[in-house]
Parts: sequence; C-alpha cells; structure tokens
Amino acid sequence: MKRRFDGVFTQQEPIPEAGIDAALEVLRSGRLHRYNVLAGEISQTNALELEFAQTLGAKYCLAVASGGYALSCALKALQIPAGSNVLTNAFTLAPVPGAIASVGAHPIFVETTEDLVVDLADLAQKAESLDVAAFMISHMRGHIAEMDQVVEICERHNITLIEDCAHTMGAYWGDVPSGRHGQVACYSTQTYKHINSGEGGFLITDDPELMARAIMLSGSYMLYETHQMGPEAHVFKDIRWDTPNNSGRMDNLRAAILRPQLAALPEKAAAWNARHDILVKALERVNDVHLAFRPSAEAYVASSFQFRLPSWEEDEIARLVTRCADRGVELKWFGKSEPVGYTSRHDSWRYVAAQDCPNTNRVLSTLLDMRIPLTFSEADCHLIAEIISEEIAAR
Ligand SMILES: *Cc1c(COP(=O)(O)O)cnc(C)c1O
Repeated sequence: MKRRFDGVFTQQEPIPEAGIDAALEVLRSGRLHRYNVLAGEISQTNALELEFAQTLGAKYCLAVASGGYALSCALKALQIPAGSNVLTNAFTLAPVPGAIASVGAHPIFVETTEDLVVDLADLAQKAESLDVAAFMISHMRGHIAEMDQVVEICERHNITLIEDCAHTMGAYWGDVPSGRHGQVACYSTQTYKHINSGEGGFLITDDPELMARAIMLSGSYMLYETHQMGPEAHVFKDIRWDTPNNSGRMDNLRAAILRPQLAALPEKAAAWNARHDILVKALERVNDVHLAFRPSAEAYVASSFQFRLPSWEEDEIARLVTRCADRGVELKWFGKSEPVGYTSRHDSWRYVAAQDCPNTNRVLSTLLDMRIPLTFSEADCHLIAEIISEEIAAR
C-alpha cells in the first residue's frame, strides 16, 4: 500500500498565547491605531519597531501594512524617479515588480542561476550597460547570493541596493543579518512568511532622511516625533512639508501578535531548518534531482524547499506534480505557462516590457517548490520525502 500524507500545506501554527493575550488587551483598550496612546504609554507598534531594529542592528525601523507596501514605500522614500530602470530578479514574486511599477519605474530582470540566486555576471553586465537607479534584490525562497559581490557591483555603478527580505527574516550572510547589506531592506509579516500577522511588513535603514520620508509616506501626519525608531525631529524640517501621505501604517493589534513571534524566531528557525534538512538529505540521494548549492556563509531560515529535475520534460514534471498531489504532497511548479495561485513568472507580468531571460526560463521550467509549515513534524517530512522520492523513481 502506498502511503499518503494528510497534512495541510497552508496550515501555519497558532498565534502564541502571549500574543493572543496582548491582542485581547489591545482590543479591550480600544486603542488600535498606532498613534492612539495615553500619556506615557508606549504603543505596541513602537515597541515592535524597537525590538525588530535591535534584532538587526538597524538605526531606524518602520512597521507598515504589508511587505509590498514596504517595497513601494522604500522606492518612494529613495525618490526613484518615474521612468528610471530598477533591476530585480527574474525569479521573484509578483509584489516585487509590482512595487517597481507602482512608482512608474521599469523593472529590468536579472537572470537566475541553477542555485536560484541572481546571476552576478548578468547583474554586472546590466549594471554596466544600462542607466540603473536601483537594484531591488529579492532573496527569493531564502536563497542568498554572494552579497559581498552584489554590494561591490552596486557600489561600482552607484546603484542603490534595496533588499527584499520577505523570505530571509532571521537569516544571515556570514555575520551580517539579511537586510543589512543594502541602503534599505523590506520584510513581510503576511501569514506565509516567518512571523504571521495576516498582513504586515517592515522597512529598516540607517539613513535618517530616507526613514523620515518613509514615516511621512506611511501616514504619520505630524506625529512623527512619537516614533522611537525614527530620526530626530530636525530631520523632518522640510521633509514633513514635501512628502505626500500614502497611508500604510501598522496597527497595535497586529504588532501585539507579532512581538512574541519575533522573540521566538531563532527557535522557529531551527525547527524550520531541521525539517528542510530532512528533505535535503533524502532528496540528494535520488537520481535526477538537483538541489541548490548553499554556500557556507549562508545561514538560511528555510520555510520552503526547492528541487530541480533538469533532465525531465515538461509533461513528465506535470505528471509528477499530479502523482504527488494524489498522495497528499503539494508541489508548486514554476514551469507552468499560466500563473496559478501565488506562482507567476516574469512573463506573466505583462505590464512590464517583455524581456529575454533564457537561463531563468530553463531553471524555472524544471523547478519544484514546497512550503514547510511548522505544523508538519519531522516524521511528516520523512514521509513527504519518501513520497516524492518514490514518485520520481516511478518516472
Ligand atoms: C510575500 C512577498 C513579498 C511581500 O508580500 P506582502 O504579501 O505584500 O506582504 C515580497 N516579496 C516576496 C518575494 C514575497 O514572497
């Protein structure tokens, strides 16, 4: 009898009891808006920003309504002009090119390697040959490129580096937390990321003017001085007049839910990696499977797992996805020409001028991807690995 897996790939863990208690307290107080505080009171949102900045060693931090909002807010706070070129990964999720398009800039896609990171040769070539305002690097599915080289290329061409850390909260490159290589970094607290408030995000930077603009953009009105993790009041002198309000604030309810999750992140990271590494160890022994190389400098927080079958035809991969689904294992295939669910490709974003990314297309056509919610036990991961391995062997 073939074994079946019964877990739910979209089922995250419950909110910790401490978060539920704190949320109830906010609800009972009625003070959900981040600026609605009593004299001397520190709002949950302010406290969260302080704690998040501390975990990353960032000078400034702003909590916002979503990860996608943080990305577009970063571009606006950097004053990236409409019509300029912004580099980003050809392999990323829709909010990234969406944020670039939202400021009227042009996303220019950088090729992806077989190890699922940006191709540094293609990055250097595009940085050299085009007039580029910024590079919004997406650490897609938690795979981190050689960051020293990324920074070097950006510095050489005077390109602002914005990091999309939606998949690398809690991760490191060497001793440096993911998000501390660029001028600004953005994170998401949407349900399927590393900490869960339904919707939410962060923007961090050490640049006082950039943060002052981001705070004004997020909808601080003239209450910016209440931000513990914002720059001093004098930095806002002109910025408060010159910056439009594009409301996208975090609220105290979501901040209350997030604070205990942020404190538990190192422990959760270990749990994710234990599950991920079970899948890696089992699948690396299977014929035809290619796993992304992970450099020793990369300390990942693997909330998902990817593998490739480079020698397989598209119809064979489509059948594998079906056979695994029949046994309860949900694989996402980036090779599908029609976008489905959360999975779309650079050629699905038709508001962007079509671009040739032959290497990315080749990599994505044989790439399979799987979520690892922490509601799965390590035994569950052994079973999932067994099912995938058997179905690959049954090619
Ligand atoms: C989730 C995600 C974002 C931001 O998402 P929101 O849903 O807006 O919080 C940005 N980039 C990537 C790669 C993502 O997966």
